[in-house]
Amino acid sequence: MSEAGGGIDAARRQLAEVFGYADFRPGQEAIIRAILAGEDVLAIMPTGSGKSLCYQLPAIVTGGLTVVVSPLIALMRDQVRQLRALGVSAASVNSANHPDDNRAALRAAADQGLRLLYLAPERFAQPGVTETLSAAGVGRLAIDEAHCVSEWGHDFRPDYLGLGAVRDRFEGARIAAFTATADAATRADIADKLFHARPRTFVLGFDRPNLKLAMRSRRSGARQLAAFVAAHRGASGIVYCASRRGTEETAAMLRAEGHRALAYHAGMEKSARDRHQDAFQQEDGVVMTATVAFGMGIDKPDIRFVGHAEMPSSIESYYQEIGRAGRDGLPADTLMLYGLADIRLRRRQIDEGEASEARKRVERRRLDALVALCEAPVCRRQTLLGYFGEMFTPPCGHCDLCLDGVVSHDGTVEAQKVMSAILRTGERFGVTHLINVLRGELTEGVTRRGHERLPTFGVGKDRAPEAWRSVLRQLYATGLVDVDIVGHGGWSLTPAGRQVLFSRAKVRLRAETRASSGKRRRERLPVAIDGVGAVDEALLARLKALRTRLAKEQDVPAYVVFADRTLIDMAARRPRTIEALRAVHGVGAAKLARFGAAFLQILQAETEPTAPR
Ligand code: ADP
Ligand code: ZN
Repeated sequence: MSEAGGGIDAARRQLAEVFGYADFRPGQEAIIRAILAGEDVLAIMPTGSGKSLCYQLPAIVTGGLTVVVSPLIALMRDQVRQLRALGVSAASVNSANHPDDNRAALRAAADQGLRLLYLAPERFAQPGVTETLSAAGVGRLAIDEAHCVSEWGHDFRPDYLGLGAVRDRFEGARIAAFTATADAATRADIADKLFHARPRTFVLGFDRPNLKLAMRSRRSGARQLAAFVAAHRGASGIVYCASRRGTEETAAMLRAEGHRALAYHAGMEKSARDRHQDAFQQEDGVVMTATVAFGMGIDKPDIRFVGHAEMPSSIESYYQEIGRAGRDGLPADTLMLYGLADIRLRRRQIDEGEASEARKRVERRRLDALVALCEAPVCRRQTLLGYFGEMFTPPCGHCDLCLDGVVSHDGTVEAQKVMSAILRTGERFGVTHLINVLRGELTEGVTRRGHERLPTFGVGKDRAPEAWRSVLRQLYATGLVDVDIVGHGGWSLTPAGRQVLFSRAKVRLRAETRASSGKRRRERLPVAIDGVGAVDEALLARLKALRTRLAKEQDVPAYVVFADRTLIDMAARRPRTIEALRAVHGVGAAKLARFGAAFLQILQAETEPTAPR
């Protein structure tokens, strides 16, 4: 085990030498320090923030073997390919490999030659695997997609439950677990199931400032989607659909509009599915219309947009799905369409599902939170981050609500009615009871508690239950009230809510909760990207063409050669020597040796830098 100080310096050197990166991204350094110091780590980091580097770099720096557990074969294949392109010794064992390759990978692990071995979780159950690895000596177990261990999460995998015990078979091995999605309940569950003692936990901001968030009530879904995709013609993107038929129809509709659109769902022949996935991964500008079956294993960094034809199943799923866009940090666009039908369907799915009553209650509250996000009267990002426990983020300035504003009215009186109903009933009741009190319903639950004698009883007769639900959701979205999602579902006032109630401060509510202003304001560029200067588009196109050719020759996705960001930086800096090329973002030693000359040829052929416009 290397001492922390020297460790992090060595890590910094390898960051530049192997990966070609100038510095750590936020959070990476602290996590890598903890890993190098031999601590157990649980890191909750948004997609695209650079999780993989957090276990890859320690593996490179310290030597020894890091076993990476991932449920996603496509992701393993991709990472192994990328690592090898960087000159790092890595291999994978999974059901998609030839058995000979799997044996060779395990042998390489045993021969101490391997830095990273990617393993599907069910492999541990196979005879000999744990023994071989244990004999080889496992320094670290890196667990990707750690939320799969939690039954609360949306991707529960029974194989993950065994991972806590696997670690005991590897003497001295440390665990570093990573996930991009975890609300408070899931987070605690992960720590419980994977670790014996409390791990060092890092929660990185969930904010993805390069993603533009937008939600709109569905009018003509097809037309809205067509316009959204048309705004990103030629870029790679995903449109999520709730049904298999929806994916086929949307693909056909987009093809008719001249896009290269391919469907993806679990009901397709495997060969067709793989073909579509490979096309999406390898080519530029494919639109995948897919069910949620698609995407978990995709770490394509240059997905420029993600649309939802229908409302996703939860905020966690929504966050995960839009999170697949813009992993390279460049601007990416999202649009979710939703309608009352989606909400009803989700309710019914929950009601008719197999889950226990307790579980269903949790699911219903999660659904309410998602609807609250759709109806949020203020910045989407604030509401979304609030759900993940990040309060007090300033308005983002580039979500649909920040840009277009929202038609709202003075909802102070309604807000006061709801909040005082919550307060007067002791801050422990769920939505149904609160609405009964507001609307003056003499139900058994009301009379048993004497709630018909409260001054708030019946003050909300004039409005339908659904209207009151909407007020509650909006107050929740703005952080004035809170609901105990995992417990009894009781609503309470937050400190901010108390203040508003007692100071009689004004509250704005959305006028028509499912309406949106028809006109779309001209969109500004979502965010300025730091460190990227103005770029000559023609040069960039030549660099991309070379990248495509090299990728085809080597049968790897384009971004394995170089990421978009690298080419943009290259076009902006126009290096003319190997030394100068080395300074470009994402150019490490191995790629420099392999691709440097070819790219320099193009760069040197540029005569005088034309003034960038
Ligand atoms: P995650 O697994 O968190 O979704 P990845 O590990 O795939 O994200 O990283 C996203 C992208 O960011 C990758 O292209 C990766 O190479 C890049 N990246 C990671 N760390 C850094 C860094 N320190 N500097 C620049 N780019 C980085
Ligand atoms: Zn905003």
